[in-house]
Amino acid sequence: MATGDPRGAADRVPEGAPTETPLLLAPRPDAVPRGFAATKVWIFDLDNTLYPAECNLFAEVDRRMGEFIAHYLGVPFAHARHLQKAYYRQFGTTLAGLMRIHKLDPTEFLAYVHDIDLSTVPELPDLRAEIATLPGRRLIYTNGSKRHAERVAEKLGVLDLFDGICDIAACDYVPKPAAEAFERMIKRHGVAPEEAAMFEDMPMNLRVPHDLGMTTVLVHSSYLDHPVQTEMKRWSELPDHIHHMTLDLRAFLASTARAAR
Ligand SMILES: [Mg+2]
Repeated sequence: MATGDPRGAADRVPEGAPTETPLLLAPRPDAVPRGFAATKVWIFDLDNTLYPAECNLFAEVDRRMGEFIAHYLGVPFAHARHLQKAYYRQFGTTLAGLMRIHKLDPTEFLAYVHDIDLSTVPELPDLRAEIATLPGRRLIYTNGSKRHAERVAEKLGVLDLFDGICDIAACDYVPKPAAEAFERMIKRHGVAPEEAAMFEDMPMNLRVPHDLGMTTVLVHSSYLDHPVQTEMKRWSELPDHIHHMTLDLRAFLASTARAAR
């Protein structure tokens, strides 16, 4: 998307603008360390976590959400984008707001926003090799649809490595970061939180996993779309609920996670 394109203007660092090299932050010195020695369930967010934000895939999903709302509500695109982001912040996802405020049928929305071209998603054999060595079960946990997760994971070349996918429908359309969403995921997949690690690009989606006893890993994304993400620029150390941070999921799995096992 070209700089100056009003479609992507809402609260995002304009693409093409100089981006600062993100800082790899350490936990607070007095933070209680949590590692991977006990990890038996490896839980990965999908968008901008299993694939890098540089694919621009989620940017396309994001744009299609605006299109859908504009058509559905019969409002100009700019107004639709405003509603999209307002609902996202207030309800956790745009979809949750549309369901609550406009009684939207979620299936129609999810089918439209995930109907995207995956040609920018690379095959990642090196990431596959690392995920394949993780001992125990592996899950994808996404606020998107199962079909979207399956398509993307297949394109990455990792789908067959996962034991399950927990999508927004499986959580009765309650999205992360709500505690009820994690409770549904845990119950459905029989996860013991103290034996689980959660990988996510959205800092607020790691709060509940931390509170539940999981090990949390922030996979840094260059896609800034939420006030909490922009706050990250001002962090000097990791917040208590984030135990690890990486700029490169594959490298993290190869080093820190593997060494801790
Ligand atoms: Mg994500």
